[in-house]
Amino acid sequence: MTETESFIRRLPKAELHLHLEGTITPATLKDLSARHDARPLTLREAKAYYLFDNFTGFIEAFKAVTRRLIDPEDYELVAWRMMQHLAKQGIVHAEVFISVGVIYMWRNFDPRAFEPIFAGLERARERAARELGLSIYWIFDAVRHFTVEEAERVFRKAAEMRRDYSSIIGIGLGGDERLSGSEPFRALYAEARDAGLRLTNHAGETTGPEAIREALSIGSERIGHALSAVRDFYLLQDLKEREVPLELNPTSNVRTGVCASFAEHPLRRYFDAGLLVTLNSDDPAFFGSDLANEYLLAHTQQAFSCDELRQLASNSIRASFLPDPDKAAWLSKIDSIR
Ligand SMILES: [Zn+2]
Repeated sequence: MTETESFIRRLPKAELHLHLEGTITPATLKDLSARHDARPLTLREAKAYYLFDNFTGFIEAFKAVTRRLIDPEDYELVAWRMMQHLAKQGIVHAEVFISVGVIYMWRNFDPRAFEPIFAGLERARERAARELGLSIYWIFDAVRHFTVEEAERVFRKAAEMRRDYSSIIGIGLGGDERLSGSEPFRALYAEARDAGLRLTNHAGETTGPEAIREALSIGSERIGHALSAVRDFYLLQDLKEREVPLELNPTSNVRTGVCASFAEHPLRRYFDAGLLVTLNSDDPAFFGSDLANEYLLAHTQQAFSCDELRQLASNSIRASFLPDPDKAAWLSKIDSIR
């Protein structure tokens, strides 16, 4: 391990844009297949799902994994393996998307389908807090290209369950931006905010800067990807003035073909312009990366110095939904790392 890699590992970091299902490795997919398929996948067959070169291929791979997540024990297994890997990278806190909309879809929208699954996730979360000192918040993610009614089901479930589980911190919208923007979800976002949920949103990944403006206009507090903001000077000014946290995912953007290379990703431009940028891995198992590797690539591909990497780690804590005293404690710890 190089000195920079060791520094990155020691920096306390938060990961704010991470899909639980996207952390499932081919080896774990093989294990899930052994549990559920009449003819289980070999490791080679499992790996084949991860070879895609565009956004549509990625969505297909994501489906192959999620349809083999069936029992609460499956969710507990994949969550625990994700948490072990987070802790190994020096991540101290993560806000993890659960594709609640997809979970309902595979279960014929049965309203009782989700609670047992969530109990499995909570078992993993509590174990990670105990054994790894890792804190996890959950974000319930709806699929924007399903109907507004389906998003309503997901967000209301988050509001209802939040009364019993403080680990449920917010909501988000994933799915295919090319098929639906944010405007149809305006009333649902207002309702979720009134229920005490924090509001995230994917915007400007496969669409232009107008999609980011639209996401901001419905009250989104953090923007996932925000890749196309670079094309709109006034939007960048606005994001800076309002200190809107951006959850950037450079390797994800390269692998889905919406950005030519890590070196060309606007991470460096946003950072130099003073935006509140955070680095994230999105679906690390699918994209062959993880958060520590994204920090390393920021160093090797965009010449981020150790002090700048430290700033990225601080940003991740500031942009998190942690309580202020926790943020202050982590920020002073980050300052002390040499
Ligand atoms: Zn995402």
